Amino acid sequence: MKANKHNRFALFLFSICLTVLYPNYTLAFEYGYTPSGYKYVVHQHSESSYQHAWCKQHNGVEEYKNEDKTRVDCLTNTHAIEFDFANKWAESIGQALHYQYMTGKKAKVVLILEKPEKEFCYYNRVKTLSKIHDFEVEYITPQILNIKNGKCKYKDCKCNRKTNSNN
Ligand SMILES: [Zn+2]
Repeated sequence: MKANKHNRFALFLFSICLTVLYPNYTLAFEYGYTPSGYKYVVHQHSESSYQHAWCKQHNGVEEYKNEDKTRVDCLTNTHAIEFDFANKWAESIGQALHYQYMTGKKAKVVLILEKPEKEFCYYNRVKTLSKIHDFEVEYITPQILNIKNGKCKYKDCKCNRKTNSNN
């Protein structure tokens, strides 16, 4: 939890420099909790790419709009699903439970493990809570994206963004 203030500030400045120099590049950065504390984490592929892949496989509707204007990442006949990267494990539970409340469908978290060996502990945390609080969880890995030459097939993914710089 304890992060060095100077390091944080240096990272902050560094990210500003990167934003100025490489506007497309910084889209891949996110400040988040990792096994080694809070730091910038790099995601190769957008969360939405994982959402597209999983939701299509399960015949769901993406971005289903609730009455309170919140959006369910994927709504299937049986489940209301929230997708998140492993470092957002805690938030994912709250969102999934809210979607269950709004839709009447079973809450489900799909946790994205980009590095399954390192991040499995987060899945286990959610799994334990899912048994106590009666919701479902599963995990997915980059395998679901069918990556070819480092790129997935989703045009809106950050891995495909460098080629069309107008955003
Ligand atoms: Zn991608």
